[in-house]
Amino acid sequence: MSKTQFRFLTLAALFLLVASPFYLNAFSMTLLNYIGVYGLVALGLVLLTGIGGMMSFGQAAFVGIGAYAGAWASALQGYSPWVGLMLAIVLSCSVALVLGAITLRLGGHFLALSTVAWGLSIFFLFGNLDGLGNYNGIANVPPISLGPLKLVASWQMFYLIWAIVLLALLASRNLLDSRSGRAMRALRGGNLLVESLGINAFFTRLATFVIAALFAGLSGWLYAHLNRFVSPAPFEVHVGIDYLMMAMVGGATELIGAFIGSALVTLTKNSIQDYLPMIAKGASGQLEIVVFSIVFIVLLQRWRGGLISISSHLLPSPHHDIDRTVTPLSRRPLPQPGEVLLTADQVERRFGGLVAVDKVSFTLNAGEILGLIGPNGAGKSTMFNLLTGALRPNSGRVVFQGRDITHAPQREIAKAGIARTFQHVKIRPKMTLLDNVLLGTHPRTTSGFFSGALRLDRAEEAQARAEALRQLQRVGLGDKPFELAGNLPLGNQRVLEIARALAADPVLLVLDEPAAGLRRQEKQALAELLQSLRSENLSILLVEHDMEFVMGLVDRIVVMNFGCKICEGLPLEVRQDAQVQDAYLGGLV
Ligand code: ADP
Ligand code: MG
Repeated sequence: MSKTQFRFLTLAALFLLVASPFYLNAFSMTLLNYIGVYGLVALGLVLLTGIGGMMSFGQAAFVGIGAYAGAWASALQGYSPWVGLMLAIVLSCSVALVLGAITLRLGGHFLALSTVAWGLSIFFLFGNLDGLGNYNGIANVPPISLGPLKLVASWQMFYLIWAIVLLALLASRNLLDSRSGRAMRALRGGNLLVESLGINAFFTRLATFVIAALFAGLSGWLYAHLNRFVSPAPFEVHVGIDYLMMAMVGGATELIGAFIGSALVTLTKNSIQDYLPMIAKGASGQLEIVVFSIVFIVLLQRWRGGLISISSHLLPSPHHDIDRTVTPLSRRPLPQPGEVLLTADQVERRFGGLVAVDKVSFTLNAGEILGLIGPNGAGKSTMFNLLTGALRPNSGRVVFQGRDITHAPQREIAKAGIARTFQHVKIRPKMTLLDNVLLGTHPRTTSGFFSGALRLDRAEEAQARAEALRQLQRVGLGDKPFELAGNLPLGNQRVLEIARALAADPVLLVLDEPAAGLRRQEKQALAELLQSLRSENLSILLVEHDMEFVMGLVDRIVVMNFGCKICEGLPLEVRQDAQVQDAYLGGLV
C-alpha cells in the first residue's frame, strides 16, 4: 500500500473512532473504553517484549500501582484526580526503575520468572495494606473532572482514554523511528552487537522497561476512574498473562497490534461470558479459561506474528525521504599516517587449560592495513575479541592512541574509534539496510528517548540518515536502502556490516574474516573497497584465514599459530617463512 493510501485509511479509521459515540450504544462505548485501557498496557508490552525481547508477566502490577495511586489520592485523600495522575506516573516509573535495575541484568528466563515474583508480591501488598482497604479495595473513586465538567458518562471517558491512547501510540511510533528506538529494536538478538556499536544495552533495556511501566501506570489510573472502584483482583499475575496474550495475539512487533489484541481478547471474553452459561451451567468460570486458551493456542499456531501479520502488507513500507544536502555529521580527526595507533603488548588469554592467545605483541600504524592470519584455531578471533573488548585478557596490555583500553568495556572502545565486524555476520534482519547502518551512527549522535518521542531530533536524524546513505553508497549498497537486511545474500550482509562500521566514523576498522563465504568477484570488490578506504587514511586490521586474499592487499602481516605469534613482516617475507609454510601445511601457501 502506498503512503497516501495508508494516510487516507488512517484518517478514515480515526474519523470512525472519533464519531463512535454517535453510532454506538453506551455498552459498546464501555467496551471500547476497556479496549483502550487494556490496549495501553499491551502497547507497553509490544515495546518491551515484541520489540525489546524482554518477557514480563508482571505488567498487571504496574497497572495496579497506577490504579491504587489514583484511587488513594482522589477517594481517600480528597486530592484532584490529576494529582493522582502525577502520583501514578511517578510511582509506576520509580518502581520500574528500581525493579528494572535489580532484575534486568538477569538473563532471559530469570527475568520472566522475576516478573512473576513481583507480580505476586504486589498483589499481596495491596491486599494487606490497611491504608488501601485490604482485599476489599477502595470504593467511591470520584470521576475525573475537566474544570466544571465531570467525566461520568462512558462517551466522556471515551474521549479522554482514546486521546491518551493515541498520544501514546504516536509517541511510541516516533520513538521507534529515532536513535533510541533503533537501539531498542536492536536489543533482540543479543548484547554483543549492541555493545560493539557503543550502545548501552542495559540502559536501553531499563528505559524500555520504564516506558512500558509508564503506559501500564497510565492505564491503571484510567481504570480506577473508569471503574470507580479498585481492589487487588484485577492486578493479579494471571491478568498479567492476559496482557501478554493481547500483545502476542495482535502482533508483538507492530504497535497497532496491541489494540487489535486488546479488542480481540476483550470482545472474546465478553462473548464467551454471554454464551458459555447456556452450554455449561455452573462451571462456566473454568470453562471460560479453557475455551479462551484453545482459541489463542490455535491463533498463535496459525499466525506466529499475531493477527497483524496477516495484513502486514497493508502497512506502508518503511520509507523515508533522505535529504542529502544537510550538513554532514562532524568527523573525528584521523592520526598522521605512520603514527603508532594500536599496540598489543604480551597479551594472553586462556580458556581453562587452553592458551588461546599466548603473550602476543604487535603494533599497528595509522594508515596501514595489517593482516592477522593463521590456520583455523590459531587464536585470531580471540585476539580480535581482546582488542575490541568483547573478551578480557588474563594478562598483557592493549593501548589505542595512547590510551590503555585493556579493561575498557566494548562500548567505550567503540566510542574511542575502533569499529568492528563479526566473523558470523551480525545484522538485524528485520530492520532495513538504512536502519542497520544508522545503528552505526549511534555514538556520533546524541538524541535521547524524549527528543525521539517528541520529534525534537529531526535535524540530527536527517544528518544521520544522510550519513548512513552515504556509507551504503560507498560500499555499493546504495540502491535499495529500504530493503530488509535479512533479504540480502551473505556476501552483501558482510558488506553491510562494513558500512555500519564506517558509519561510526572509526579511526581503526577491524574485520574478522570478511572474505569468508564470498564468491570470487565479491572478494575482488571487497579488496578494492578496503584499498580505497586505506587511501582515505583509514587504518584496518584484517583477520583472515584466506592467505591469498590477504597477500595482495595488506601492508604487513602477523602470523599466529596455536596461540603464538610465529612470524611478522611484509607479505612476501611471510610467504617464504618456513614456519608459516609449516603452519599452513605447506600446500596452501
Ligand atoms: P581462530 O579465529 O584463529 O580460528 P579462535 O580464536 O576462534 O581461532 O580459537 C582459538 C582457540 O581457542 C581454539 O582452540 C578454540 O577452540 C578456543 N576457544 C575460542 N573461544 C573459546 C571459548 N569461548 N571457550 C573455550 N575455548 C575457546
Ligand atoms: Mg576465527
